[in-house]
Amino acid sequence: MAYFDNNSTTRPFPEVLDAVRSASDSLWANPSSPHRVGSQVRVRLEQAREEIGHSMGVDPAGLTFTSGATESNNAVLGWLANRKSLSGETALVSRIEHPSVLETARHLFANRIEYIPVNQDGLVEMGKVEELCKQKRPTIVSLLAAHNETGVLQPWKEVAQLCQEYGIWFHCDATQWMGKLDPQGFDLCSSFSFSAHKFGGPKGVGGMFSHEPVSWIRGGGQEKEQRGGTENLPAIEGMRIAWRQTCNKLPIKQDVVAWKENFESQIKQDLPGVRIIGEKVARLWNTSFLMLPDFDNLGWVCKLDKLGYSLSTGSACSTARKEASELAGAIGLSYENGGRLLRVSSWLNTNELEWTNLAGALVQAHAELVEDRDQSGVVTL
Ligand code: PMP
Repeated sequence: MAYFDNNSTTRPFPEVLDAVRSASDSLWANPSSPHRVGSQVRVRLEQAREEIGHSMGVDPAGLTFTSGATESNNAVLGWLANRKSLSGETALVSRIEHPSVLETARHLFANRIEYIPVNQDGLVEMGKVEELCKQKRPTIVSLLAAHNETGVLQPWKEVAQLCQEYGIWFHCDATQWMGKLDPQGFDLCSSFSFSAHKFGGPKGVGGMFSHEPVSWIRGGGQEKEQRGGTENLPAIEGMRIAWRQTCNKLPIKQDVVAWKENFESQIKQDLPGVRIIGEKVARLWNTSFLMLPDFDNLGWVCKLDKLGYSLSTGSACSTARKEASELAGAIGLSYENGGRLLRVSSWLNTNELEWTNLAGALVQAHAELVEDRDQSGVVTL
C-alpha cells in the first residue's frame, strides 16, 4: 500500500519501536518513586524534556508532557476559561481550528466566542485578526500553525507578535507544523501544542508548552503539578527518538517538494475539473487537498484503497463523526462540493514513484467510478 494519510498519523520509525520496547523493559519504574530505579526513570524523563524543549527553541521548564494535542488544546483553553481574571472575556478563534480547539472553545466560552474568518484559500488574513483584536479586545486568540486538511500555513508568527503588543494570550496548535517545518519561533506564542504520532512517534503522547504554568489534571504532583498521572516514559522516550530522527531529516529538500508540485500539475492535466484548495498560498510541502470533479469522496477513497492507495476525505477526527468538514463551510463550499474533498498527505518516508503513480491511480479510480455509474444506470433502466 502507498500511504498518503500522514496528516492523520505517521508510521513510527523502527528506532522508535526499539526505544519504546527497550524503555518498557528497563525504565518501567515510577519516575516519582524515591529509590534508585525510579530516579533513573526521572533522569531520562527530564533528559527528554531538555532535548525536545531545546530543539524547539523554548525553555524546557515550560514543556509539559501530555497524551497528545487534543489534551494539550483542552488543557490550555480550560485553564484560561477558568482563570478568574479572565472570566467574562472573549475568545477569538479561527473558523478552521481542529475540533479539539473549536469545540472546546465553544463549550467553555459559549457566547463569548468571536471567529476569525478565512478566505476561499483557507487562509486567515492578518488584517482581519488585527481588526478583531482592536474591536473585540479578546483575552485569548487561538490559531493553528498549519491546517490539517488544506496544509495552508497560517500567519501565526505575525499573530503572536500582534498579541504580544496587545497583551493577549496567544495559543497556537502546532500539531501539523512540528515534524514538517522549522520548529523555531514558537517561543513567541504564549502556549502551543504538538503530538508525537504526527512525526513518526507513538500515539497517545505529545506536549504543551506554556510561558505560564497551566494546571490541568489534578490529583498528583506530576509534571510540575500541572498534569497529574504517572508519566508514560516509554512513550515519551519514543517521542524523543522520533523527534530526533525527524529533525535530522529537516529541512526538506527541494526535490522532495517538487514531487508534490509535479503531482498537482499532472492531476490538473489528467483529471479536468479538479481544484486544489489553497493552491495559490503557502502550504505544507506534504499536503494536497483536492476538490474532485465528481462523485462522492468516500467512493474515491474505496476505489483508491482497492488500487493500493490509502487516502482520506479530510480530518480523521471529522470522518469518525461523519459530519461535514467545518472547513468546507468556512471556505464557502456548497454541501455537495464539500463532499468531494480528498486529502493527500505524504511524509518523510514517501518516495517519488508513489507520488507519480498516485496521479495514474486517481485517473483509473475515476474511470472505474464512471463505469460503475454507467453500469448501475443500465441496471436501473
Ligand atoms: N490539532 C491538529 C491540527 C491535528 O491535526 C490533530 C490530529 N488530527 C490534533 C490537534 C489532535 O491530535 P492528537 O491526535 O494528538 O490528539
